[in-house]
Amino acid sequence: TPVVGVLALQGDVREHLIALASADAVARPVRRPEELADVDGLVIPGGESTTISKLAALFGLLEPLRARVRAGMPVYGTCAGLIMLADKILDPRSEQETFGGIDMIVRRNAFGRQNESFEAAVAIAGIDGAPVEGVFIRAPWVESVGASVEVLAEHEGHIVAVRQGNALATSFHPELTGDHRMHELFVGMVRGHAAAGS
Ligand code: GLN
Repeated sequence: TPVVGVLALQGDVREHLIALASADAVARPVRRPEELADVDGLVIPGGESTTISKLAALFGLLEPLRARVRAGMPVYGTCAGLIMLADKILDPRSEQETFGGIDMIVRRNAFGRQNESFEAAVAIAGIDGAPVEGVFIRAPWVESVGASVEVLAEHEGHIVAVRQGNALATSFHPELTGDHRMHELFVGMVRGHAAAGS
C-alpha cells in the first residue's frame, strides 16, 4: 500500500487525509523533512499559497521538497497547491516562492474576482463516467502551459487541471466532495511510480 503524505503547514489537510484513505492509500501529515523522506507521494492542499510558501521556508521544507519533485516523486496540488507546483506565478507576492514541477504560468485568484466560490461539473481526461464536481474557492487558473504539460480539463475556456509526468494539479478542491476519483487517479500514479522504482 502506498504511503501518501499531505503537506500539513496550512490549508485543508484533514479532508485530503480522509480522501486518500478512501482511495486505499496510507495517508500521513507531513511537516518536517524527515516525514517527507518517508512518503511515496505528496498532496499539497488548498489554503493560502503565500502562507504555505512562507511556512515551507520556515520549516526547512522548500529545498527538500523541490529536490524530491525534481527526482520524480508523485505530487498532487489542489488550488493553492496548484499554485505551489507552478514554475511561474503571474502575480506573485514578493516573498512567494513555489516548489515548481509543472511548466505552467498560473494566475492567482483568477476566478475569485467575479465569484468568491462556486461549483461546476468538470470533465477530466482519464476519468471515465460522470464529470467531477469541482469546488472552486478563490481559485487560480492556468494561463499557459509548456509543450510537455497535458491539459486534463478546462472550465469556461480556462485550464483547471494539468499533469506533467508525476505532477498533477487542479484549480478546484475534489477533497471537499464525496467523489474520490481524483485521489484514486493520484494514488494510481504513486503506485505506478513505486512499482517502477523498486
Ligand atoms: N487564493 C488562494 C491562493 O492564492 C488559493 C485558494 C484556495 O486554495 N482555495 O493561494
